[in-house]
Amino acid sequence: MKLANIDFGIYRDGPVGISTSCGADSAVILYLLMKEIKHDLHIYNLLGAKRQFVLEPAFDKVVKRCAELTGKTNYFVHKMPAAHQTPEMIFKIYKDALDSGDIDILYTGLTKFPPDDVYASWGMPGPEWHRQWRHYDNVHPLFGLEINIPLGTDCSNPALTIDGQYKEKLSQDSRVYNPMINYTKQGIATLYKELAIEKDLFPFTRSCETDTHTEGHCGSCWWCKERLWAFGYLE
Ligand SMILES: [Zn+2]
Repeated sequence: MKLANIDFGIYRDGPVGISTSCGADSAVILYLLMKEIKHDLHIYNLLGAKRQFVLEPAFDKVVKRCAELTGKTNYFVHKMPAAHQTPEMIFKIYKDALDSGDIDILYTGLTKFPPDDVYASWGMPGPEWHRQWRHYDNVHPLFGLEINIPLGTDCSNPALTIDGQYKEKLSQDSRVYNPMINYTKQGIATLYKELAIEKDLFPFTRSCETDTHTEGHCGSCWWCKERLWAFGYLE
């Protein structure tokens, strides 16, 4: 299935999973899967414990809205609170879900970051370790998830180690599908237009990463800047 020339390869043979936040990127993929998949849909949500009070209601709102819009009822929500999110933790959750047999394939809504000149014009430090592997110039595999990390990158604690050893690259197997990984958030905005859900779904999503705005968007954090750059408006 193609939308805006992007192949979503909607998987039709068995149960499907999606890794979803409350953001605009994964929300549009969730909407598409709810609309197109007849099998059970498993929704995996990683909640940073520190900001759970903001993110959990926002996530619930997105799932509820997608279900209302599509009429999908056979979906299952898996919330995974974690003090620190690391790539290893994310990969383990994906692998466990796939190995359990609950799902045959897992979608993500990951996108590239904007070009360097756009990024620089916002004049603020962004999510730098994400930037290493979601850099505008990188071309990513659509299947599997590869995170390239320079040795010694300090992402969080525990840092990027497996069995106590730093890795230069972490790779997920090919059961993880990232249809938007070679597009920026502007590609996501195109999808909302193409699906005609700019008014019906976009305002229900949340990109803001501040704690001060429990409702709505602050308009000044890095994630709000990216949202505004891509869509031209915040809500
Ligand atoms: Zn914000």
